[in-house]
Amino acid sequence: MKNKWNEGALYRNLVDGKWLESKSVMTIYSPLDDSVLGHVPAMTKEDVDQVFLAARKAFYKWRETTIEERAEIMYRAADILMDRIDELTQLLVVEIGKDRKSSKAEVERTADFIRFTADTAKNLSGESIPGDSFPGVKRNKISIVRREPLGVVVAISPFNYPINLAASKLAPGLMAGNTMVLKPASQGSICGLSLAKVFEEAGVPAGVLNTVTGKGSEIGDYVTTHKEVNFINFTGSTDVGTRISRITSMVPLLLELGGKDAAIVLADADLDLAAANIVAGGYSYSGQRCTAVKRILVLEEVADTLVEKIKERVEKLRVGNPLHQDVDIVPLISTKAADFVMELMEDANEKGASLLLGGKREGNLIYPTLFDHVTTDMRLAWEEPFGPVLPIIRVKTKEEAIEIANRSEYGLQSAVFTQNINDACQVAAALEVGTVQINNKTERGPDHFPFLGVKSSGLGTQGIRYSIESMSRPKAMVINIH
Ligand code: NAP
Repeated sequence: MKNKWNEGALYRNLVDGKWLESKSVMTIYSPLDDSVLGHVPAMTKEDVDQVFLAARKAFYKWRETTIEERAEIMYRAADILMDRIDELTQLLVVEIGKDRKSSKAEVERTADFIRFTADTAKNLSGESIPGDSFPGVKRNKISIVRREPLGVVVAISPFNYPINLAASKLAPGLMAGNTMVLKPASQGSICGLSLAKVFEEAGVPAGVLNTVTGKGSEIGDYVTTHKEVNFINFTGSTDVGTRISRITSMVPLLLELGGKDAAIVLADADLDLAAANIVAGGYSYSGQRCTAVKRILVLEEVADTLVEKIKERVEKLRVGNPLHQDVDIVPLISTKAADFVMELMEDANEKGASLLLGGKREGNLIYPTLFDHVTTDMRLAWEEPFGPVLPIIRVKTKEEAIEIANRSEYGLQSAVFTQNINDACQVAAALEVGTVQINNKTERGPDHFPFLGVKSSGLGTQGIRYSIESMSRPKAMVINIH
């Protein structure tokens, strides 16, 4: 298949409003057929210094722009994204191997996100606080609180939503008045640079949005510890997020990390609804989603029936290469990722789990896999596979389900399926996670809801208003009337 991405085009970085080459380049291959999609700069430390210099210089002017001016740029960016939806959908398919329908949905969701962010920023109000509500303070003292930008914000995005999870940092960061340095995932960097181009064409001035490309393992530490950084907004693995929090000091962070989201199915649940949500939540984009359902905790008395209903649906999933057909299960992003999933499956097999479906691998394509009778001594009960494999753990009571759910190092989301509102609320209250979905799969969004992880799943809160607030700070002016 020929398109402009597999002719090996050279993609340049956006630095200070110009598209610049670097001395060395990194080749980006498609995970679907190993074709060369293009080359992006592998930036050096000197290049990164230039980026931060530009971002710092631009900050002082950008923070003086009005919210209305920034919003107009955002609306134009959303329109340009939608004008290019076919091109960007195809890019997502070839660069990160996402199925076509989900790729298109990612672009649409991003345009909606950007528009909603502009609207939200326009409607955010500050506050005025009367002093005399505090003991001993006279009526003449009033505090007026406004929000100020933080300065230069580093946005680091993962491979799995290279357009949406970059824009969901850039748009609120820019609306808050910050200048931005985007470091996209290497596999996903053509998507990241294409998004930067959209913002540039929409009118983001020189230096306000800049990009850094290159391997995170080589350039990441230099970027995150750079003296010009005022805030880091990172989405990715717990390993890298933990490293960033260790090596940066006194720099505020927003971290959205890994997860091991549980779907808890109680005895009175609507089992058809639970099965449909579990399969959609567990297997879409081959499980390469932070909020994918990653384990099922089901009450023994309904386990057999639930398992049958899940099996029926998994058997209908279409498996293959999204370049050639409409599929649900796509090849994983890399051989390393597929090897890791196989390792977890072998461990479960060796320790006596029952393999009900799948377990087969062709290249990096792993067939949708379902294990029953998974026990807590197996790695699959605890580790995040980021692949199309679901473990079923049978439990005797809802208390046992809660205990196992909470024993995880992660705390992103959980789902609980039950028709009893009291049970739903009790389980939800007891779960140590950022969000509990009642009678629905775990998922990010709608994007104006707060989204956060606790424990090893993150630090700080995203979601449109929350993201704007995270990337700004209150500033108080105290008026004393004499
Ligand atoms: P990753 O390997 O942690 O990479 C994420 C980003 O960090 C990439 O841009 C990567 O660049 C960069 N990076 C690597 N080393 C770095 C360093 N030392 N300093 C700074 N940046 C560095 O994660 P991934 O494989 O792309 O994404 C999958 C993970 O993300 C999963 O664990 C998933 O659960 C998590 N995730 C979480 C959320 C959420 O909202 N909670 C959403 C999506 C994904 P390179 O690509 O160049 O290495």
